[in-house]
Amino acid sequence: MYVLRWIKDLMIDLKRNSKKEPIEATGLRSRASSRYSPNQKEDFKISRGRFSNFLTCKRCFYLDRVKGLDPPGTPGWTLNETTDLLLKKEFDYCRERQIPHRLFIENQLSNVVPFDHPDIDNWRDSLHKGLMLRHKDTNIILTGGVDDIWQHNISEQLIIVDYKSQAKVGKVDKQDYLEDPYHEAYKIQMDFYAYLLFGMGFDVHQTSYFLVCNAKRDDQEFNKRMNFDEYLVPYKWSTDWIEKKIDEMVNLMNNSQIPEPNPCCKNCAYAEQYSKVIGNEFKEDKVEIQGSLF
Ligand code: SF4
Repeated sequence: MYVLRWIKDLMIDLKRNSKKEPIEATGLRSRASSRYSPNQKEDFKISRGRFSNFLTCKRCFYLDRVKGLDPPGTPGWTLNETTDLLLKKEFDYCRERQIPHRLFIENQLSNVVPFDHPDIDNWRDSLHKGLMLRHKDTNIILTGGVDDIWQHNISEQLIIVDYKSQAKVGKVDKQDYLEDPYHEAYKIQMDFYAYLLFGMGFDVHQTSYFLVCNAKRDDQEFNKRMNFDEYLVPYKWSTDWIEKKIDEMVNLMNNSQIPEPNPCCKNCAYAEQYSKVIGNEFKEDKVEIQGSLF
């Protein structure tokens, strides 16, 4: 279980009410609607993030979505969110005027403009809406909040874009960026968005882009400013593998057996060691109390 992930990282996550007062944590979700009952008939949404969880560890996914366990949260990534927010403003400016963004000109994409569609804000709202697609004739609605969608104004094909912020010394090599094992999940994310958008009936360009903002760690001073380099990293998405995995995920959700954990997960290994240590302490305490009684 990932419950202990953040204990290891020393991120103590106290449950709080709307007034930010600490309240008792039960470890379970309070909203029954966020839990899926195997073979339920009502529609149930599965986001891109949950699908990624399923791919990483079926057990954690199942405990979260079906058993309703409430995992500890992580603090917001406010600096990354700020670059996203400011980029959104820049692209919205160009969207309103249907003009290419400066990055398009620099990257020989002068026939591209930000896609102007009445639902663009809904599609970017990963928390409440996002792109949406019913999976076959099931009750599962797949969702995913994109960062942006651009459009080639000759072919009219849509181009999926994901903003990524990072801080790395030196330049970003586009090939290394895509081959980095830590970026596998980014490619899955892009494949999933392409799958949704295509399923919604849009013509999607085979090349998507990661807009990578790399904070310059080798600057001489801060002086109230952080400077970034920008890169457009092209990625050819692939959706061939997705449907089979979604079928597997839906089958798992309709099953009452808890699946196996991921044996490479340090959180579960930590949880196991934690239980052993606490279990032993408990036994020793008990012996001591019994000893004192007799
Ligand atoms: S292996 Fe990791 S991800 Fe899976 S259930 Fe355990 S803690 Fe969760």
